[in-house]
Amino acid sequence: MKILITGGAGYIGSHLVDALIAQGHELYVVDNLATGKIDNIQHLLENEHFHFVNDSILNETLMERIIEQVDLIYHLAAVVGVKHVIDNPLRGILTNVRGTEIVLELAYKYWRKVVIASSSEVYGKSEKAPLAEEDDSILGPTAVGRWSYALAKAIDEHLAFIYHDKGLPISIVRYFNSYGPRLDPRGYGSVVAKFINQALAGKPLTVFSDGQQTRCFTYVDDTVKGSILAANLKGAEGQSFNIGNSRETTILELAQLVKKLVGSPSGIVHVPYERAYGADFEETRRRVPDVRKAERVLGFRAEVPLEEGLRKTIDWFQCGR
Ligand code: UDP
Repeated sequence: MKILITGGAGYIGSHLVDALIAQGHELYVVDNLATGKIDNIQHLLENEHFHFVNDSILNETLMERIIEQVDLIYHLAAVVGVKHVIDNPLRGILTNVRGTEIVLELAYKYWRKVVIASSSEVYGKSEKAPLAEEDDSILGPTAVGRWSYALAKAIDEHLAFIYHDKGLPISIVRYFNSYGPRLDPRGYGSVVAKFINQALAGKPLTVFSDGQQTRCFTYVDDTVKGSILAANLKGAEGQSFNIGNSRETTILELAQLVKKLVGSPSGIVHVPYERAYGADFEETRRRVPDVRKAERVLGFRAEVPLEEGLRKTIDWFQCGR
């Protein structure tokens, strides 16, 4: 197949590209390298089955030219990561909403299947555990910048469902804290990358607040596997899926584990949220996926244990780059 991956030079996107190239597909990537990196796809630039365009998904003429040629689209390009969105909320909202609108409009015109990459952030600060796909989103006030990311992703999902109502095949994958090689310490999944960098440098690991907030860290091979299943299975159309590992880990435990696996003498310091994100910050204390629907419909289950995934990620930070 000919496949477009928007954001294919990014951390998750580039792993998805690798997996699909290995399956023998022809890949098109549009990425403006705002957070994506040429290093992530450097090894493919000479490959005749790989075509890279360094441009924005907001360039409609370009997007039309490519979408016309492909059979399937994975839409991953977005401004991601709480920190990026807080630092530049306008760019976050415009790229994330308008970009998805362009992809879906063109997919509808040429009738192409689209997999929309969404985020566990859409559940907002709901503390229900585990979170099922049909559960309510609970967002804070609009004066708190963090929630604009969840809202933009939620609008993307609404748009996808609207096009599905018109008959277009779409699937939505909600990623839960993906981590692995190529993570950007300044970007998405920053806590794992930051802790590894800090531990390797012998600097203190910065645990925000009491460190009792939890996340379910999902190794990137599992993130990619879930995305491909959502694209390939007819039964996945018109639905959203939690793509995540169900093991819940506190941030303090994560810090201790990274420290141990690196063999680092670093200490652990607690930093108040206000110092990290500014005065108006609101946190999501727990975020655990209900994985039953993904298991039932996609046959998907995250398999890589946290220790193993962290070891591979640490190896990459140490010598793989
Ligand atoms: N976090 C932390 N120290 C850091 C960066 C993040 O304790 O240096 C915490 C953050 O407050 C959150 C968790 O790690 O509770 C995950 O943060 P990340 O930005 O990686 O992802 P998200 O909040 O989107 O799940």
